[in-house]
Amino acid sequence: MKLLEEKVLKEGIAVNENILKVDGFINHQADPVLMRAIGEDFANHFKNQGITKIVTIESSGIAPALMTAAAMGVPLLILKKSPSRVLNEDLYQTVVTSYTKGTSYELTLASRLLDERDHVLIIDDFLANGEAATGAVRLIRKAHATIAGIGILIEKAFQPGRAKLEEQGFCVYAQVRIGRLSKDVIELVSKEL
Ligand code: 5GP
Repeated sequence: MKLLEEKVLKEGIAVNENILKVDGFINHQADPVLMRAIGEDFANHFKNQGITKIVTIESSGIAPALMTAAAMGVPLLILKKSPSRVLNEDLYQTVVTSYTKGTSYELTLASRLLDERDHVLIIDDFLANGEAATGAVRLIRKAHATIAGIGILIEKAFQPGRAKLEEQGFCVYAQVRIGRLSKDVIELVSKEL
């Protein structure tokens, strides 16, 4: 997606060969015009597939996922990293290791919010090792819902996330694919003509 590619190249900060900072336009400060365009692009890519809900993981995926949900006219379901036990609800839970923090968290979904009638699209900001998306898949399967595909804003194509998800048969669509990072250098995956 051209608009996001331009933004990443202009305003993304390559911290080292593994980490890209996008906190000026996605996950600390969010650009609403860009978020709307991102949502429309995902909605267009995954149209006519009978999607009933968008699923994302708090918190960085929420802005683009909400815009995708608005463009598709379906609800957004936010998987929580720290469960609220106040209502003592029935929960589905699975442990996920955070790529950026190196720590683990318990991804949580209230069981009443998803069931076998749902066909969902997973949206997340980054794809690195595929841990977050695979955790989301495990929870969605616990609810017996089905998965239309996985939409990612920024894929680090030199890391194994895509292969891990495609091996499981998922359709992965990334709006920006990064081929290489090093300090202050961002290279996109070159596109075939
Ligand atoms: P994965 O689970 O695929 O290994 O990593 C994806 C998650 O880690 C994303 O939800 C994102 O929050 C975080 N992440 C992975 N790589 C990066 C990165 O280069 N920059 C930022 N800002 N977050 C990242």
